[in-house]
Amino acid sequence: MQERSLADPISVLKGAGPKRVVALNKLGVNTIEDLLTFYPFRYDDLSTKRLDELADQEKATIKGTVASQPVVARFGRKKSRLNFRLLVDQAVLMVTFFNQPYLASRLEIGLEVGVYGKYDVKRQQITGMKLFSAADPDDFAGIYRASKEIRPNTVKQFVQEAYQEYQGLLVDVVPRPIQQKYRLEPLAQQVHDMHFPATKQAADLARRSAIFEEFFRYQAGLQFMKKKQHHELGTVINYDNSQLKDFIAALPFELTPAQKKVVNEICSDLHHPVQMNRLLQGDVGSGKTVVAAIAIYAAITAGYQCALMAPTEILAEQHADKLSRLFAPWNVNVALLTSSNPSKAAGKRELYQHLAAGDIQLVVGTHALIQADVVFQNLGLVVTDEQHRFGVEQRKLLRLKGKEPDVLAMTATPIPRTLAITTYGEMDVSVIDQLPRDRKPIETKWYSKKQINAAVSFLFEQIKNGAQAFIVSPLIEESEMLEAQNAREVFAKMSALFEPNYHVGLLHGQLKSSEKEQVMQDFKQQKYAVLVATTVVEVGIDIPNATVMLILDAERFGLAQLHQLRGRVGRGSRQSYCLLVSDPKNDYGKARMETMVQTNDGFLIAQKDLELRGPGEVLGSKQAGMPDFKVGDPVENLNILQYAQQEAHNVISAPNFDQDPSNAGLISYLRRSVLDRNGLD
Ligand code: ADP
Ligand code: MG
Repeated sequence: MQERSLADPISVLKGAGPKRVVALNKLGVNTIEDLLTFYPFRYDDLSTKRLDELADQEKATIKGTVASQPVVARFGRKKSRLNFRLLVDQAVLMVTFFNQPYLASRLEIGLEVGVYGKYDVKRQQITGMKLFSAADPDDFAGIYRASKEIRPNTVKQFVQEAYQEYQGLLVDVVPRPIQQKYRLEPLAQQVHDMHFPATKQAADLARRSAIFEEFFRYQAGLQFMKKKQHHELGTVINYDNSQLKDFIAALPFELTPAQKKVVNEICSDLHHPVQMNRLLQGDVGSGKTVVAAIAIYAAITAGYQCALMAPTEILAEQHADKLSRLFAPWNVNVALLTSSNPSKAAGKRELYQHLAAGDIQLVVGTHALIQADVVFQNLGLVVTDEQHRFGVEQRKLLRLKGKEPDVLAMTATPIPRTLAITTYGEMDVSVIDQLPRDRKPIETKWYSKKQINAAVSFLFEQIKNGAQAFIVSPLIEESEMLEAQNAREVFAKMSALFEPNYHVGLLHGQLKSSEKEQVMQDFKQQKYAVLVATTVVEVGIDIPNATVMLILDAERFGLAQLHQLRGRVGRGSRQSYCLLVSDPKNDYGKARMETMVQTNDGFLIAQKDLELRGPGEVLGSKQAGMPDFKVGDPVENLNILQYAQQEAHNVISAPNFDQDPSNAGLISYLRRSVLDRNGLD
């Protein structure tokens, strides 16, 4: 017989015909291991209770004797109600089952049955959920997620069979000493009690163990990759310190202490012969771009080429523009590469040649950078701005354009600590935790739609004093066309109000990129006092003279988006304002507006966002590299996550990690799951 493995497909199980296999596959269950960790999503306490033990609306199993012929009433094709009387001790209860007419055939007067259901004291009624004929039910039963094609009980039978046959292969990944320290169950026991707990206590303990196990595996994988990277040779970037100092001294402002700190962290990484993999986190407006510019300049003084990738054309153009100006006195050749720039194929070809020949030192661009035609002579540093906007694959493709280039990823999405652990466990993190000194907190006001005139007058007053303003038109996620149309309407209204004394510009996703670029340039050069725009201005745009951000139908935006939009102002020394016009329809919407009014702190806002929406939504799980945990919830189970991370770190970084026999299961797990993955993420 062939050797068994947890990786066996579920089709090896008896009774697993093609139909059922497909049904299980659809539930995400492909292998025996998947099946064994396909845990019940809830448990029903089916233990039998006496009526006088039960509170109103409590669920339990009640035993009695069928005292009347079942009656089935049907409504329409699918709906039905089955009623019968049940004699329990001296009392007679009415039992009702919805939509299970076939149960009638199992009922006859005088028969002893158990009914699991919800008890209504006043009406002396049970709404039945399960019917047991003879034998006692399991006292505490796991309920499985199922589908139209496969019933929960069938899933359970497969789990039982798999557990019987394969339990011997369940080898502990969490080292025994750690299990003991936290009173966790060994894996085989844990899997058993997740599926077939005898009591609620057993189920709870198994769940705690399973959550720890899941987080521990994930963290151990990340820590292991990190350790491995630190042993691998990367690029040594021997930058010229005195040139770098001159460059920093010539900046138009002094770096904040937080910026200085992260510049030091990055520079020390550049020097090291390990591949830098660093996340630069900083709230909107904290000044990440200049930090990137310093890193880029450092790499260039050491003779390397650099690439900076941004998620939108507008942003790429802005960076290219800003950096060319910043680098102009320093003899750095900067190029812009997007799908529309250079516009002609010949121009693109020429740019590729210059990149390959090494006479462009910095290329700024969008996804266009990761196309196959783009080849570098010696790419030493890769920077991604707003990195959460890119997929893992895209970031990797850019990295692969060089020979182990150093990587700096920037994000303003303030990831709460909980999620940072899971999402960025394998990266080193630098945080800019203060804004430039001259900034005044943005004042945020919330207007109802009826008060829109007040908001617009406020904006008007500001403009009279020389300010520039953004007006963000309502978000329409389903259609860029409708969104653009909406923006045009707002534009027409605002033009009627402000022209001819003050000019109004219009920016939306349906403009050609050259048109967008022109509008941004004009706004920057203050040809417009007001820019009506869709969310195309959401990320990165930096126009320090703009100090008013008016957001229409603000309830349509999530907190993170609102914070990003608000971050388009407050970028200079003048007092800035954010005006939210919105009639939220529910409490969440109101809570969002109130949060915005109360705080400017991106981390607090992210935490709030998380509470209101949950992590998957906040990060767009896949995009941000957030793993899909099966049992653990990084927010709800933060404590366990932190312990698991700490223990994983301790184990992996211990000098005798490879020799310690209690790590055998862990090491073989890491071999299976991590070592054959190449690349950083
Ligand atoms: P973000 O972190 O949101 O990407 P930017 O890098 O665009 O922020 O910087 C925001 C604005 O602050 C820019 O106009 C930038 O020139 C300016 N800035 C950056 N660092 C400082 C500083 N230390 N002092 C004053 N202004 C700064
Ligand atoms: Mg930025």
